[in-house]
Amino acid sequence: MASTRLVQIEQDQDIQERLAAERIRLRKIAGLEPSRHFHKPIERAFTAEERSRVTILFGGFTWKHEDLIRAVFQGCGYRCEKLPVPDVPAFQIGKEFGNNGQCNPTYFTVGNLVQYLQFLEKEGVPRKDILDNYVFFTAGSCGPCRFGMYEAEYRFALKNAGFDGFRVLLFKDSDGIRAASGEPGLKFTIDFGFGMLNAMHLGDVFNDMIYQIRPFEVNKGETDRVFHETVDGLCTDLKNRDSFEIEERAPEWAKPKFKSNKILRNTFNVFGKMHENLWGKDYLEALAAAREKMNSIEVDRTKVKPVVKITGEFWAQTTEGDGNFHMFEFLERESAQVLVEPIATWVAYLMYQAKAHAKAKWPVTRPYRSPKWFELKKHLANQMSLRKKLMGIAAGEKMWNYLYHRTIDNLGGITHHLVSQTELAEMAHPFYNQFARGGEGHLEVGKNVYYTVHKLCHMVLALKPFGCMPSSQSDGVQSAVINKFKDMIFLPIETSGEGEVNAHSRVQMALGEAKVKAKAEFEQALQSTGKRLDEIKSYIADHPELRRPFYHVPHRPGIAGTAAQFILHVNHRMNSGSRFRRRARAQGTVVSNAA
Ligand code: SF4
Repeated sequence: MASTRLVQIEQDQDIQERLAAERIRLRKIAGLEPSRHFHKPIERAFTAEERSRVTILFGGFTWKHEDLIRAVFQGCGYRCEKLPVPDVPAFQIGKEFGNNGQCNPTYFTVGNLVQYLQFLEKEGVPRKDILDNYVFFTAGSCGPCRFGMYEAEYRFALKNAGFDGFRVLLFKDSDGIRAASGEPGLKFTIDFGFGMLNAMHLGDVFNDMIYQIRPFEVNKGETDRVFHETVDGLCTDLKNRDSFEIEERAPEWAKPKFKSNKILRNTFNVFGKMHENLWGKDYLEALAAAREKMNSIEVDRTKVKPVVKITGEFWAQTTEGDGNFHMFEFLERESAQVLVEPIATWVAYLMYQAKAHAKAKWPVTRPYRSPKWFELKKHLANQMSLRKKLMGIAAGEKMWNYLYHRTIDNLGGITHHLVSQTELAEMAHPFYNQFARGGEGHLEVGKNVYYTVHKLCHMVLALKPFGCMPSSQSDGVQSAVINKFKDMIFLPIETSGEGEVNAHSRVQMALGEAKVKAKAEFEQALQSTGKRLDEIKSYIADHPELRRPFYHVPHRPGIAGTAAQFILHVNHRMNSGSRFRRRARAQGTVVSNAA
C-alpha cells in the first residue's frame, strides 16, 4: 500500500512539474514576464518614543467632529492637527498626483493631504522633518467601491508629490500603528476609545442642532458664535480631563492591594474609566453648561422654510466646503432648513449589515453542513454559532443607540433620533437589494422613501460625487422610486471640482417647488387654528420660553415644516384651559390636529 501511495505522489509531483514547465514555456512564447505579486509596502512603524514629536494629521468630517476628535487625541497625550476643509485647489492637486478615474472624494482628500504637506514645506519645515514628524491617520476598507483604494491612492499621490515614505496609518491596520517590537505609537486604550465615541456622538448632535437652530435665529451670526464657544469649551474639558486610575482614587488602605494585584487593578480601571467617560460628573456638568449656553440663542420658529433632507454618499453629504459646492450654506441662504445625516447612522448601518450577512451566510458557514435529524448536538452547535454572533452584534447596536440617544437627551433633546435600520432596509428592498454593498448601499433609496412616506421633509437632496459607483446605481433605481411616490421631490446632484453654478441653479429650481409645498402646509395649519398669525406671534412674544431653541415642540405626524408644527403647538397651548379652547371647539377647527 505504502509503495503504491509513493508512486502516486511521485506521479503527482511529476505532473505538477511538467505543468509548471509548460506554463513557463507558454508565457515565454506569449512574451510574458514571470508573474510578480504585489506586496503592500511595509510602513515605518509609529513608535511610542515618537509620540512627543510626531503630529497625527486627520480630516474628512465637519469642524465640530474634528475639533472634538483633536481634543481627545490631545487629551490622551498625542500631538494632533486637523487638515483644512478640502477645497478646489486640493482637488486639482489630487488629480495631478493621483491615478486617473478615481471618484472625486479620493481627489479631494488625497489632494488635501498633499496640499497641507506642501504648505508645511513652504512654511520652512524641511521635507525630512515632514516625513519623520507627521503621520496621517485615516479609515480604510477593502471595498467593494473605490474606498478600498484610498490607502493605495494616498501612498501613490504622496510618492508622486515627492513625499515618498510619508506614513499613512489606518484605523483597521495594526501593523502601521504597532511598532515591530515594544509599545505602539497609537494605543487604543479605554480612555481613547470612549473619548472618540463621545467625540463622534457630540459632533453629530452639535451638527444636527446647528442646522435646526441657525435658520430660525433672531440675531444673525449668534448660532455660529455660540456653537464655536460651546465646542471650544467642551474641547478644553476633553483635553484636560484626568484619566481615572484606581491607584489614585482608591482609599489609602486599598491602594497597596491595587498596586500589587494587576488583574484587580485592571478590572477596576476598565469599569472606572468607562463610568468616568460616560457618566462622570465632570463630563455631565460640561454638557449641562453647553446646553445652557446654547439655549440662550433666541429663535423665531414661525419663519416658514422648506425642510431639505440631505442624503447621498458619505463624504459628499458630510463635508462643508467645495467638495459639495458649499451646499448647506447655499440652502440656508435660499431660506431652507437643512436636515443633515449623522455619521452614527453609517455605523448603525454597518452593524445592521454585519448581522444580515451573518444570517445569510449561515447555511454555508455553520460548523455542521447536513447533520442528521437525531444529531441534536450538531444542530445545537449550528444554532449557537449563529446566535453567538448575532447577540454580539446586537449588544453593540444597543450600546451604540443607547449612547447616541443619551447624548441627545443630555444636550437638550431636540435632535433627531437614529432611524431604525430594519425599516430603512425594508423600505429600500423592493427597489435595491440590501446585499448590494458599497458606499451607502441601500441607504440612499431607503432614506428617500422613509423621509417621504413619513412626511419628515419637503424635499430630498442626494449629494453624490462624480464617479461614485454605488451612488450611480442608486440613481438608476431612484427613477423607479419617484414613479411610485408621485409627490416626492427628489434631486440627485453630482458633485465635482467644477459646475457649482449649474448645481446651485438645479437645486434652486427643485427648492422652488419645496417652498410652495412648505407654504401651503403652513397656511393649512394656520387656518386649522382659527387664529391670525399676529395673534399667535403676540402670544409667543409674551412667553419667552417659546423663543428658546430647547423648548420642546411635540412632533405631529404628517407635518414636515418646523413653522407649521410650531404654530399648531402654540395654538394648542393657547387653547388649553382658556376661552380659545371653547371657541375652537365651537368652530370645530382645532382639536383634531392639536391632540
Ligand atoms: S462610495 Fe462612491 S465616492 Fe465614496 S469612496 Fe465609494 S466610489 Fe468613491
